[in-house]
Amino acid sequence: MGKESNEHDQDEDLKIYDRDSDRLTISRVPIILWIIFIYIEGIVIQNITTPLPIRSLLFSLAIALHVLLYWHVRKILYYGSWIYFIIQAGIIFLSAFLLPVSFPIMLIGLIPILIGQSIGIYYQTKKVVLVFVGFYLLFCLAMIWYRDGEHSVLFIGLLILIVIIVAAYSILFYKQVNARIRIQNFLTELELAHQKVEELTLANERQRMARDLHDTLAQGLAGLIMQLEAVDAHLTKGSSQRAHEIVQQSMSQARKALADSRRAIDNLRSKSASEVDFSDAVREEAQRFTMATGIRTAVDIKIKSSVSRLLIEHGLHIISECLTNVAKHSHAKNVWINILDNQGMISMGVRDDGKGFNPDNIAKQAGHYGLIGIHERTRLLGGTIHINSTVQEGTSIKVEAPLLKET
Ligand code: ADP
Ligand code: CA
Repeated sequence: MGKESNEHDQDEDLKIYDRDSDRLTISRVPIILWIIFIYIEGIVIQNITTPLPIRSLLFSLAIALHVLLYWHVRKILYYGSWIYFIIQAGIIFLSAFLLPVSFPIMLIGLIPILIGQSIGIYYQTKKVVLVFVGFYLLFCLAMIWYRDGEHSVLFIGLLILIVIIVAAYSILFYKQVNARIRIQNFLTELELAHQKVEELTLANERQRMARDLHDTLAQGLAGLIMQLEAVDAHLTKGSSQRAHEIVQQSMSQARKALADSRRAIDNLRSKSASEVDFSDAVREEAQRFTMATGIRTAVDIKIKSSVSRLLIEHGLHIISECLTNVAKHSHAKNVWINILDNQGMISMGVRDDGKGFNPDNIAKQAGHYGLIGIHERTRLLGGTIHINSTVQEGTSIKVEAPLLKET
């Protein structure tokens, strides 16, 4: 846990570091343009009054290094911000000393820029003020050395003025840059959230495919096996006539399973619905069930309203899964299927008089998808499910859903 939060902190630090360096990278170009402007001015003023070729060359090299350090500010900050400021200040003062005539221009032109940059680097009043005071003292000392009486006083006052302007501009500039970076971060987060939604949709689709496969192919095959077992039993007993009848039933069930699977595959492509009438389909299913299992089935269907395609599809699967479970697990003698609609709701119930089970023990058992599928389909219908099962007495599964839920 401790380790995790540590890693998290590091991540946060990195993020902040990244954000800082983004802020600095964005501010590089205008700063460098300004330095070049000051450089040209320094060179021109010096060489008009007193040409100093060798010093001018050294001066150019110093300024080139100055610009290079500005460009790679991110890398140098990695070793410590103080190192960066000391080196840059050293270069500024050195280049100023190299060209005596341009001396004040160089200092007044470049020092405020470095102070402005400290706002971007620290974003903290205390440290920025410290940088300002440090540079200002150095500037005053340099001016005393320069010994230009009244002009020095003028320059000292001028520097304050320029620093105030540059600082105000820097604060506004970095605020804007920060807002832009924040928006970029939001966009990235939004994109991640969008990806997550897509992944969830895919997972949902997979669940639907698994359910459809279970309800069509697996269930159809399970029914066929049961019928084949019955055929086998009848053949062993010698009643080939009955066996023949069941084979006929099996063939039609196989066709139905095939049609169901095809429909499921179609559904994966489009949401086409079956045109079957709900009551007829349930009665057919019950008939097939009785034929295959010999379990008596009483069907009671009273539907006055029309039933949506969604309800037909899910309702049929729910009932047929209940019947499969009766055949597979219950050892029941009788099954009752009740379907009726009332006040905009449909109620579908399958009850048996078998051995019963404890629904609480079954929940979330791996490898059993039938009941999970029933729950899922009920949820999709916007309905509720009631499972009542008493050991040795039987099981009743009832699903209630609104008639008018279309998706
Ligand atoms: P599966 O049929 O693959 O075992 P289900 O989710 O359909 O998975 O059923 C889970 C379990 O619930 C069954 O294994 C069985 O023990 C029990 N069960 C379900 N329906 C009945 C029933 N009508 N009578 C007795 N037990 C049942
Ligand atoms: Ca089952």
